[in-house]
Order: sequence, then structure tokens, then C-alpha cells
Amino acid sequence: MLDLIIIGSGSAGLSAAIYGIRANLKLLVIEKEFEGTGQVALSSKVDNYLGLPGLDGYSMGEQFREHAVNFGVEFLEASVTEISKDDNSKIFTVKTSKGEVYEAKAVIYAAGAVHRHLDVPGEDEFASKGVSYCATCDGAFYRGKTTAVVGGGDTALDDALYLSALCEKVYLIHRRDEFRAAEITVKRVKEKANIELVLNSQVEEILGNDRVNAVKLVGGKTIDIDGIFIAAGSVPVSKVVEGVADLNPAGYIIADENGITSTPGFFAAGDVRTKTLRQVVTAVSDGACAATAAAHYIESL
Ligand SMILES: Cc1cc2nc3c(=O)[nH]c(=O)nc-3n(C[C@H](O)[C@H](O)[C@H](O)COP(=O)(O)OP(=O)(O)OC[C@H]3O[C@@H](n4cnc5c(N)ncnc54)[C@H](O)[C@@H]3O)c2cc1C
Repeated sequence: MLDLIIIGSGSAGLSAAIYGIRANLKLLVIEKEFEGTGQVALSSKVDNYLGLPGLDGYSMGEQFREHAVNFGVEFLEASVTEISKDDNSKIFTVKTSKGEVYEAKAVIYAAGAVHRHLDVPGEDEFASKGVSYCATCDGAFYRGKTTAVVGGGDTALDDALYLSALCEKVYLIHRRDEFRAAEITVKRVKEKANIELVLNSQVEEILGNDRVNAVKLVGGKTIDIDGIFIAAGSVPVSKVVEGVADLNPAGYIIADENGITSTPGFFAAGDVRTKTLRQVVTAVSDGACAATAAAHYIESL
């Protein structure tokens, strides 16, 4: 029997693991991807994490992980498919895609969030054939070419800036006439000569033959492109938590800053929980707080 199972090895899960193991908890981290570090790995440069300015996201994730490995944290590569709690014994049972079953006194759920799809014709058809959700991963394939970025938040504008250094031309397609991104980022985008803003516009269809060659906007306008990067926000990975703890209408797990949910012993940390700022620093903080709260909970049993 484990004290604690941590689901997810992103910034929140890894931070929870370090705090959990230092609290002498017998714990296991279950991670969907082999030696994954979650979304942080997708960031070209994390410039807002205290004390580590300018570090690329991949290296930051590797450092987080190495810290946990060096502290003796054990990892299991599998996807969690089911979580349940026995109300009498108060024991949690966690099942994985590989058929394994683990029991623990407490669970920290830190499965993060994934990219939101536009759900337009051509999006699935041309996935990895010109449709991408990660500029830092795929941008280099479009050196000297023309791309479009869809979205109006920090990620979309960051992507447009990143691509503007590689591509001949970048169209930034946004459905409103104002951006949700930080002022400084908006200013930098507006100053880039090869970024063209396509405002008050929505994608109707992504067109191509064997690869993307154009994007059609609602209203009929078509723009020729070689690739399209979709940065339209994210959705929480919380399907498996339905019936385990309360979710808000958008699917985020309702939890406070200590990760405490509607189910005693079940904690939520990182991007998957209700909060206003979803960043590395808040995910790391969440992991620390949730592991500390979990240790107190286990002690109280
Ligand atoms: C392109 C991009 C750029 C960003 N730039 C910045 C930045 O500059 N600064 C900043 O502070 N933040 C940035 N962010 C946001 C930041 O990366 C996230 O807020 C943070 O990484 C969230 O961490 P997390 O641990 O909550 O979730 P994630 O990082 O999403 O980790 C969740 C983990 O859980 C795993 N998982 C999911 N489901 C299961 C399952 N069923 N079983 C087992 N494991 C599962 C996933 O594989 C993943 O590894 C950026 C995000 C993106 C996408």
C-alpha cells in the first residue's frame, strides 16, 4: 500500500513528488509519457520563472525531473484510466492502461491541460501535414515559408513572434480586434514587419491536397499558407475525475490553493484545477501545497 499516488509528471506533479518524498511519504508518480515533463517542454523560453530567466522550457522540465529522480522518486509509465475511493476503508484504487492496479491513502491529480482544437474541416485531416499545436516543436520545418497562427492569447502571440524569426511571413488570425496577451507581447507583435494581423476573423476550413496550402476564413477570404499553428487555448485533462471529485462547467477540478477538492484525500494541482493563473510557477506552487496537505491528511487517518 502506497501513501500517495501522483498522477502526471509535469511541473505540478514533479514538485508534489519532491515535497512528498521529503515528507517521508511512500509515493509513486504515474506518467503518461515516458520521462515526460508536461507542457513546460513546449515553451521555447520561460522568462518568468523566478531565478531562472531565459531558460528554454525543455531544459527547465529536465531540471525539474532530474531533481525528483535524484531524490529517489519512483515513476511508472502508464496512463491512469480509473480512480475510485472506498468510503469505508478510505483507500483509493488507481487503474492504468496497462492493467495495473495500485492502492494509496491519498491521490494528487496533476494531469494538466491539452490544446483546444478548432473543430473545423481539414484540422484532423492535415494533422502533422501542416497543422500544428506547437510552434517551438514544429516551427523549424517552416523556415522561409508562410504560416498562420490562430488565437489571441499569450501562447498565440508568442508563437507568432517565434515563427516570425523563421518564416518569411506570419498571419495572426484572431476572432476579436483585441488580444488577451501581455501588453509587452502585443507591442512586440505589432512591431514585427513580417507579422500581418487578421483580426475579427475566424477559420472556416483548412485547405490542402496532401499538405496544407491555404486557410479559408468565415466570409470566404482565403489565405495561402504552408502551415497553420493553432493556439486557441487549452482544456483540462479531467475526464477520469468525473464522479471522483467536483468539476466546474469547463471541466476544471474545483480545488483551493492547497489542492483540496470535494473528496477528502483527493487533491488537484496545476493547470487542471480552478485558478486564475496557469503558469509553471503556480503549478510548482500547487504541487508543493498539495503534497503538504496530503501529508497532513495521511497523518490524520
Ligand atoms: C507553448 C506553451 C508555452 C508556455 N510558456 C510558459 C511560460 O513561458 N511561462 C510559464 O510560466 N508557463 C508557460 N506555459 C504554461 C505552463 O507550461 C503550464 O502552466 C504548466 O507546465 C502546467 O503544469 P502542470 O503540471 O499543471 O500540467 P502539464 O505540464 O500539462 O503536465 C501534466 C502531465 O500529466 C500527464 N498526464 C495526463 N493525463 C494523464 C493520465 N491519465 N495518466 C498519467 N499521466 C497523465 C501528461 O502527460 C503531462 O505530462 C506554457 C505552456 C505552453 C503550452
